[in-house]
Amino acid sequence: MIYLDNNATTATDPRVLETMLPYFYEKPGNAASRSHPYGWVATEAVDLAREQCAQLFAAETREVIFTSGATEAINLAIKGVFEMYHRKGKHIITVATEHKAVLDTCHALEKRGGEVTYLSVDEQGMISLEELEAAIRADTVLVAVMWANNETGVIQPIKEIGTICDRKGVLFFSDATQAVGKIPVLPKAVGVHLMAFSAHKLYGPKGVGGLFVNHRAPRVRLTAQLDGGGHEGGFRSGTLNVPGIVGMGKAIALAAEEMVPASVQLQQWRDQLENRLLQDLEEVQLNGHPTSRLAHVSNLIFRFVDAEALMATFNRDIAVSAGSACTSADPSPSHVLIAMGKGKGGAESSIRFSFGRFNQSNEVDQVAEAVIRGVNHLRSQSPVWEMFKEGIDVGG
Ligand SMILES: *Cc1c(COP(=O)(O)O)cnc(C)c1O
Repeated sequence: MIYLDNNATTATDPRVLETMLPYFYEKPGNAASRSHPYGWVATEAVDLAREQCAQLFAAETREVIFTSGATEAINLAIKGVFEMYHRKGKHIITVATEHKAVLDTCHALEKRGGEVTYLSVDEQGMISLEELEAAIRADTVLVAVMWANNETGVIQPIKEIGTICDRKGVLFFSDATQAVGKIPVLPKAVGVHLMAFSAHKLYGPKGVGGLFVNHRAPRVRLTAQLDGGGHEGGFRSGTLNVPGIVGMGKAIALAAEEMVPASVQLQQWRDQLENRLLQDLEEVQLNGHPTSRLAHVSNLIFRFVDAEALMATFNRDIAVSAGSACTSADPSPSHVLIAMGKGKGGAESSIRFSFGRFNQSNEVDQVAEAVIRGVNHLRSQSPVWEMFKEGIDVGG
């Protein structure tokens, strides 16, 4: 079994798990209990994790809010700004290729009187800065652009977007769930005021994440989305997931040490796979930007091949994602690839390979060979492929 679906989730690093374990039984305290050592021990552990996050982001500890994951952090950021700044306006700008957690939150706000501009992207998945600037209005309260895309790995020009938002006096939120722990992410240095992240995309546990909220210049305020207790500075009530937060802190500390050297290895594997497939197969194309892209992600179109059928030829030995089912709860073709102009056919012929820390060098060729075998097999049985090869226009 070869796991190349690290953008869906990563395995919890054993070093992370080991750090978490004492906080289930031996150290069961509630971080909000101020009157006994059980609580103090939990508070100390949460404080350390907050410090670890703040250090990676070059932020202050009070700027890190813990949540149940990126989806909750995204909801808190977008709905929290929309409600808090309603006197300024009700216009939000986002991008067609955002994660569903962002898009569906925006759709929910449209039902509540919000107006949302969905920026388009070019063939390589990049937004246009001119289009963004032109879309900002006097009543724009938030610009939401993801740091790196989960399906293609495409990295948006965050610094340039931050400069525009600063000039226009608009808050800037970035879903950095795929970027944190993979590339250096310094929100304060590039004008990002709110930023969501999640532990399970960076070798931490599932069900824990966070939101960076800029504290000064500007001081970002949010309407809380959960009432009760006033935990997390009033931003997010609810007893903290102490083991999860401890694990996320450890995962982030490991990333701080390891992500730069690790990305060299990941990119080498990624490029080795990509080069082999592009060399040995016809009609394979990259979905995404060739350089402004995460090192471990490759999203490829295999024209005239159904991605689901191709995956079936792997006999369950290789875990990847198809462009037809990137959010597995939703079987429609990827909205990201559609927005990039790849068409329904292109999306349904696309596969995302996402490498991670626990892959091994010998897996790269095994995957390449399985893909080449599968594509050749499917095409050999395809009348459309045959017609294409004979020069007949089949649209493809
Ligand atoms: C995984 C992911 C999310 C959702 O994160 P959860 O912690 O699973 O809620 C949001 N945005 C992006 C870009 C993601 O990759």
